[in-house]
Amino acid sequence: MTVGVILSVKVDLLFSRVLSSLAGGLVGALLVLLPAEAAKLQSWQFDRSQKQLSFVTDQPVQPKVQFLTNPARLVIELPDTSLERRRIRQNETGAIDEIQIRREDDNLAQIIIELDNDYSIDPAQVVVRGTSRTGWIVQLPEPQPQRRSQRRASRNQPAVTVAVMPYVEATTLEAVELSGSQVILRSDRPLTRYRSGWDQATASYQITLPATRLASGFSPPRLDPRGSLLSLKASQQGDSVVLSLMPAPGVQVGALAANGSMLALNLTGRAQPRLGQINRSPLPPLDQLPNVASQRIKVAIDPGHGGRDPGAVGIGGLRETDIVLAVSLKLAEILQQQGVEVVLTRRDEREIDLEPRVSMANRADVDLFISVHANAISMSRPDVNGIETYYYAAGAARTLADIIQESLLDATGSKSRGVKQARFYVLHRTQMPAALVELGFVTGAEDAPLLADSAYRELLAKGVARGVLHYITENF
Ligand SMILES: [Zn+2]
Repeated sequence: MTVGVILSVKVDLLFSRVLSSLAGGLVGALLVLLPAEAAKLQSWQFDRSQKQLSFVTDQPVQPKVQFLTNPARLVIELPDTSLERRRIRQNETGAIDEIQIRREDDNLAQIIIELDNDYSIDPAQVVVRGTSRTGWIVQLPEPQPQRRSQRRASRNQPAVTVAVMPYVEATTLEAVELSGSQVILRSDRPLTRYRSGWDQATASYQITLPATRLASGFSPPRLDPRGSLLSLKASQQGDSVVLSLMPAPGVQVGALAANGSMLALNLTGRAQPRLGQINRSPLPPLDQLPNVASQRIKVAIDPGHGGRDPGAVGIGGLRETDIVLAVSLKLAEILQQQGVEVVLTRRDEREIDLEPRVSMANRADVDLFISVHANAISMSRPDVNGIETYYYAAGAARTLADIIQESLLDATGSKSRGVKQARFYVLHRTQMPAALVELGFVTGAEDAPLLADSAYRELLAKGVARGVLHYITENF
């Protein structure tokens, strides 16, 4: 499944305005808090290999950074900061000539990073960022060699001011609670920055809180097995906390609203009753498939991708479209032999959208819909292999996906990546029980050579066919 995935993605970006007002507020606060006594530069360090200057003062200061030419240099002014010594110079090597710390007057210190005459930097690429209330880093881009003509041209350039990003203190996410039809996030300060939307990779709804930490000892709420959520997880991902949840079938994710230090997500709709594990009779052997002609069942088989869309392309140029077409044609042949009427959404290499695949099945009034795909992940992950089967609606579709997965694993001995719920277009727009199989990974070291092999493709077709036929004998 690569291109054939449609998820409704809604992203609330509240960043820029809030950030700028926040920054303004912070600067204002600093000015008010600044005591009459000057700050002191406590320590500084220049990391040669990273081209990064870091420094710490004993009280908050608001640095001003300018880029000047001839020679190219970065001047970091620390207002209301005193230095005990008039001047410290540290020689550097290579493109950076020296670092100077200077006392301009009693209340102004400067840190100057001076480049060698033959080099310059692009000031737009300099990053100045607060790392704590009193700590800063200045990240230089890679210095570029400068020709004599460039040097002469830069002689009369005015100073360029470099933007400074103030430190934003991290918020702590203290609790997540379930209350009626709401998921409530509680933090230690106003939650003004967040974004939310559906994540395609995990088919879950995610709320991301930047510059936030999970409280120590945080634990997510216990879920009612008949409640509105199938899962709810909170994790620290770098500087952000990501809350990831999966609504139960029948439940929709509604509005997300902040109220002070609280963020509430509304859930609408009622969770459909979830079926327990159904006792099923064992699968028949692969060479004794049942004939179901008397049941008069119609099945749509949907080979993914095709034509200009090859789907996933993996090891040795192995193409998803070739695999799924071969397996689907064989699957159609087996099902027909066992008395099933088959509708194929495509039988050759042609491009076809998702919508006509679904409308074809709905119009033909088929009893079951089987979409056939092969999986892919980055070429650097040949260790990822296995079969997975997707469904959208609980109940019949879930059972169909379970039986197909079980049959495929039994037929091939492949690794199981599980039966999963996802909002794929062909699954939630079809009007009959529908399943989507991912036959293996074209990027997997174990799967790819098998998927390229015609005998294995036939085995896959048999595995899917047995699952479909077994479902028919059990459910119609
Ligand atoms: Zn696909």
